[in-house]
Amino acid sequence: MEFQTKTIHIGQEPDPSTGAVITPIYQTSIFSFDDIGKPKGYEYSRAGNPTRQALEECLASLEKAEHCLTFSSGVNAASAILSLLRPGDHIIATEDLYGGTYRLFEEIYNRQNITVTYVSGDEPENFEKAITDKTKLIWLETPTNPLLKLIDIEAVAQISKWHNILLCLDNTFSTPYFQTPLTLGADVVLHSTTKYINGHSDVIGGAVLTNDEEIFEQIKHYQYIVGGIVSPFDAWLTLRGLKTLAIRMDRHETNAIKVAEFLKEHKIVEEVFYPGLSDNPQYSLAKKQMTGFGGVVSFKIKGGQDEASSFFRNLNLLQLALSLGGVESLACYPTTMTHGTIPSDKKEKLGVTDNLIRLSVGIEHINDILEDLDNALLKSKSSLSFKH
Ligand SMILES: *Cc1c(COP(=O)(O)O)cnc(C)c1O
Repeated sequence: MEFQTKTIHIGQEPDPSTGAVITPIYQTSIFSFDDIGKPKGYEYSRAGNPTRQALEECLASLEKAEHCLTFSSGVNAASAILSLLRPGDHIIATEDLYGGTYRLFEEIYNRQNITVTYVSGDEPENFEKAITDKTKLIWLETPTNPLLKLIDIEAVAQISKWHNILLCLDNTFSTPYFQTPLTLGADVVLHSTTKYINGHSDVIGGAVLTNDEEIFEQIKHYQYIVGGIVSPFDAWLTLRGLKTLAIRMDRHETNAIKVAEFLKEHKIVEEVFYPGLSDNPQYSLAKKQMTGFGGVVSFKIKGGQDEASSFFRNLNLLQLALSLGGVESLACYPTTMTHGTIPSDKKEKLGVTDNLIRLSVGIEHINDILEDLDNALLKSKSSLSFKH
């Protein structure tokens, strides 16, 4: 079955008791037993729920995974993966990591003596150089946030396999429509389903996917004990959003390419970050490991915080908001928003400067998006010329 067909049908056969074509919201915490020790298939919704299961089966088929578990948030799913570690264990992560994952490492797991070394993903050898005899996990994000740098997944997977280290990849930005890390050697895939997977900015959720039976059983057991499950209603909304993932991603991408090309030519723009620009140094790596470039475009506006601030104030269609991956276009200011908790010297080193703007390009008509961007950029220029 092709991807588009799977999003609509896998795990979502008509309900056997009523014929309901759409998977019902099983808004129940408990299920009756036939007899002592004989449940009908479900017992208690922390352990399992049919709406959640439908979502998990569908996501697993899309990521080419045997197993999937869904959670109440992306960071909750990340935390479940980290439960595989023990005090003293060491993690190697990409330095331009999602801010919430960084916080999870530094503010929660550090207390349990789980330490993290952050490396630049430019050269796969950087991961190898950081390995110690305590290293248990390599944590990748590609494309990275907010500068959309790519990491060669197969090259890092070779290193992790050689050293018997788990490789986890946060695939939130690409979705399985554009990148399937398990087929490139990753052991575990993480999603914030809050973003493109649900796609409508009305749910917080997360997912863990793997082909490794033992990892699956351990994380499932962790979830059974700790909870953090996605609710039946949120699972249902996510299933509904998922049905249009492929056509949404196609449109996000065509719009993002046009936005990136437009910004590149704009006189108020200093630099554009998007792996789908043919002069991007990682364009060929993008072509190798992805089937599309995604919908996030970052750029540096000429000037600093004042000009960025003026740009945001002059947007009409695009909203200044956190997050990404919804049908609506958003603009965000990484240095104080997504990366607000990262120390300033680190941000500087990463290139998260005070003129950096991240766009989540939505699926509105491209003319309206470009017009709004152009207008806000030109108005920020008048503040620029006024100042100097
Ligand atoms: C949003 C996000 C997360 C965290 O997910 P939540 O659903 O907000 O908990 C993790 N990784 C990436 C790349 C994200 O964009």
